[in-house]
Amino acid sequence: MDISKLHQLFLDSTGVSTDTRSLKINNLFFALSGNQFNGNKFAKQALDKGATKAIIDDKDFESENTILVNNCLEALQALANYHRNYLKIDIIAITGSNGKTTTKELTTAVLQKKYRVVATKGNLNNHIGVPLTLLSMTKETEIGIVEMGANHQGEIRALCEIAEPNVGYITNFGKAHLEGFGGIEGVIKGKSELYNYLISNQGIIFINTEDKIQVEKCNSYQNTISFGEMKEANYAISNHSHNHSASITHDNKIIYSQLTGKYNSANMAAATAIGLYFKVELNSIKEAIENYVPSNNRSQVIETNHNTIILDAYNANPTSMALAIENLDTLSSKQKTIILGDMFEVGPTSDEEHQQIVELLENLDFHLAIVCGENFYKTHTDKVISFKEFNEMKLYVSQQSLENNTILIKGSRGMQLERLLELWT
Ligand code: ATP
Ligand code: MG
Repeated sequence: MDISKLHQLFLDSTGVSTDTRSLKINNLFFALSGNQFNGNKFAKQALDKGATKAIIDDKDFESENTILVNNCLEALQALANYHRNYLKIDIIAITGSNGKTTTKELTTAVLQKKYRVVATKGNLNNHIGVPLTLLSMTKETEIGIVEMGANHQGEIRALCEIAEPNVGYITNFGKAHLEGFGGIEGVIKGKSELYNYLISNQGIIFINTEDKIQVEKCNSYQNTISFGEMKEANYAISNHSHNHSASITHDNKIIYSQLTGKYNSANMAAATAIGLYFKVELNSIKEAIENYVPSNNRSQVIETNHNTIILDAYNANPTSMALAIENLDTLSSKQKTIILGDMFEVGPTSDEEHQQIVELLENLDFHLAIVCGENFYKTHTDKVISFKEFNEMKLYVSQQSLENNTILIKGSRGMQLERLLELWT
């Protein structure tokens, strides 16, 4: 089907739906299929629920209001790309191993002080989420912010071809999704696809001068905006920590946050630099960042009656785990407890990476250090208490009388460590 005709149908509809459970009247339905299900089967249901048309890719399901295409996912992506060019707005792409969502949300809060911004909702950052994000932008939208996630080579390039960003930032190159990327070199190569895209299209690249890889990758490119401790940076921003929270300084103004961990200073600095570049006033930037509260168990500080809990149960990989442990170590509180869950998707070096985390714990002085999960259970240690099963660990923790402790809880999403919270709240 002609993409401009599909786009007209989209403009005449109330938006795109890929799930009949959340379909709204006059949505344009895309029958996406997965390994486990055939989306075409839902076309009839979508039309019965009020979809204007159903885009399908199996002619056995054709009916009066279906539109047959070769591949529904490709049609959705092509429509999103067409819509992006129709909008003619700045699209900021954010990728990296850790901190994408936080940086995206901080940047959104900052830019919203001056512009109508549409950004990726939650973590919808893949080959389906990126098109849906673009299709949620309208003629009213002034700036779009697109989080791009990847766990293998070529993915970021493909997402760039759909979103055609003209501004981009890579938060960092860390040990995340090592399995799919093939080690850290693979991560650098894969994430750099955003740089390659921006460089070939004269886009603007934001660079954190504290990150050697970012600096090195872009040193021969003109169109960069740098920020960081260095005086020569376009925006000189220094990082520090205040009580449990990350904070930064620019132009003698301190910006505090409700985010724990020094690593969040980098995310705040990026949002500040992007805000300054887009001419948002520093006072508004400060207000936006200071009011931002993270959701989804992402680096949240929770004060209970007797303890302070740093809940970081949203995800974990070797880089973010080590940073979180070091962050706990630098906090001033007297007693510290650490409870870690397995890191998933680490690949062939998984045993080694879990062992290194345990050894890091052994060298620090925590009141209690507990690890949990099949991977951590395989590690060798005398000082760290390890459990295979979550429930055994939870029982053990419930038997400890923890008071005046700062308790760090961190593990991969699948470990669902937030289930521990009920012990204290
Ligand atoms: P995902 O791959 O799940 O989309 P993400 O890159 O969007 O993750 P966030 O959700 O922002 O990352 O943060 C997840 C966790 O990563 C945080 O809770 C924190 O532990 C860690 N983290 C956040 N920012 C950084 C950073 N700049 N450097 C290292 N680790 C970070
Ligand atoms: Mg994310």
